[in-house]
Amino acid sequence: MTNILEIIAAQRSFFKTQKTKDISFRITLLKALKKEIVSNEKEIYEALRKDFNKPEFESFLSEFGIVISELNLAINNLRQWSKPERVKSSMLTFPSKDYIYKEPYGAVLIIGPWNYPFILTMEPLIMAIAAGNTVILKPSELTSYTSKLVSGIVETIFPKTIATTVNGGVDIATELLAQHWDYIFFTGSVPVGKIVALAAAKNLTPVTLELGGKSPCIIDDTVNIDLVARRLVWGKLLNAGQTCISPDYVIVKSSIKSKLIDALKKQITRSYGENPEESPDFPRIINTKNVLRLKKMLEDVNIVFGGIVNEETRYISPTLIDNPGLDSEVMKEEIFGPILPILTYDTGQDIEDLIWYFDKPLSLYVFSNKKPFIKDILNKYSFGGGSVNDPLIHFGNHRLPFGGVGASGMGAYHGKLGFDTFSHSKAISIRGNWTDPPVRYAPYKGKLGLLKKMFKYFS
Ligand code: NAD
Repeated sequence: MTNILEIIAAQRSFFKTQKTKDISFRITLLKALKKEIVSNEKEIYEALRKDFNKPEFESFLSEFGIVISELNLAINNLRQWSKPERVKSSMLTFPSKDYIYKEPYGAVLIIGPWNYPFILTMEPLIMAIAAGNTVILKPSELTSYTSKLVSGIVETIFPKTIATTVNGGVDIATELLAQHWDYIFFTGSVPVGKIVALAAAKNLTPVTLELGGKSPCIIDDTVNIDLVARRLVWGKLLNAGQTCISPDYVIVKSSIKSKLIDALKKQITRSYGENPEESPDFPRIINTKNVLRLKKMLEDVNIVFGGIVNEETRYISPTLIDNPGLDSEVMKEEIFGPILPILTYDTGQDIEDLIWYFDKPLSLYVFSNKKPFIKDILNKYSFGGGSVNDPLIHFGNHRLPFGGVGASGMGAYHGKLGFDTFSHSKAISIRGNWTDPPVRYAPYKGKLGLLKKMFKYFS
């Protein structure tokens, strides 16, 4: 406890020195961080492999590569991002020069999950530092190798007064959340998100909650089934389905369901062989607790492919479930594993009944070649973000905000939006002194008519 309190106190006094407001100082830190990450590239892949057999290809694509891109983006654009943004003055502020200043919040707490343990700790750290904050980062306790490496990188580059890591599980997270922060950035599950929101509310601390949920994938009968199967198998089985924006379940037009199932089976075998347990490209489930949770989802449902569980090696085979009931385990909560339930629809009402049965999802995917169908789905349903005719890929554009809505989270980040997330937008109006229209000053008698005309004219 004392240690955490001491670190926060030291970070707060460093913040007051105004050193983090210096853009060159931030850029120097980010460049040093990049150099350290690049020099640890092999170690990062190795740690992710040891934690849950994550293949190097996926570790590059979904962790290392994006972290380096975000670092490059921040390093190259930080001067521009942090400049006060001039906006037009209004009838009420005229004569004035009006600006939005980007101001760091101060002491930031970042809590990370296990499923992408490198990018989901590093990316918020990069943007929090880019925005001029100090950071205490708590990586997940479930990925011991990667979390240790993340800690090592952070401790090598940053003085503790600027950024440091605190390792531990629920007890440490609880202790951290009991402190007073200027911003909390949390990535993890919905139940823990609620705990974080409550802790933040006590001090009115602004918070970003990057959570999860059941992300649907709607497929109509105008699609090229083989292309859908290829993309869907990729998106579902990346990280063995342990991805917050993984397609959780499919809603397919009933007339093409069996064709889709056949195509998915073929594609799974093409990607991971007859026995995916032997594939070097198929990760393991993070721990036994999650294997048992997923195993329970395979009870009393119609498994049409896969369904193999090896508790010892924490392996669950890619599995397809035909038409499970909404009261089955697999439809009760976010799956977060390589299991894909396939539900059907005949009418738009059927789709509504399914989507609105659940909370607002983090992602939604629609596969179709019919523009009005796509338009209707995108306009009708509320979800964090999504893509058309491919799962996951909206994550790959740093110009798009990444975040949930409702139960799937609040706030968003990526690219400049990450910088904005960790910056308070401070409104500044610099009043000119060369004129001083008397209309606003008392006595008001005889001025209201003129005021009304001005409002009408300028609005
Ligand atoms: P989790 O909520 O169990 O844990 C996340 C973090 O919270 C960990 O660091 C953990 O130590 C801490 N924690 C756990 N219990 C806590 C408690 N009672 N009080 C305070 N802190 C606590 O989530 P997870 O299992 O690591 O990750 C899986 C979940 O995260 C899934 O629901 C997934 O959808 C979601 N997720 C969301 C995103 C996103 O960007 N929206 C990304 C990855 C994962």
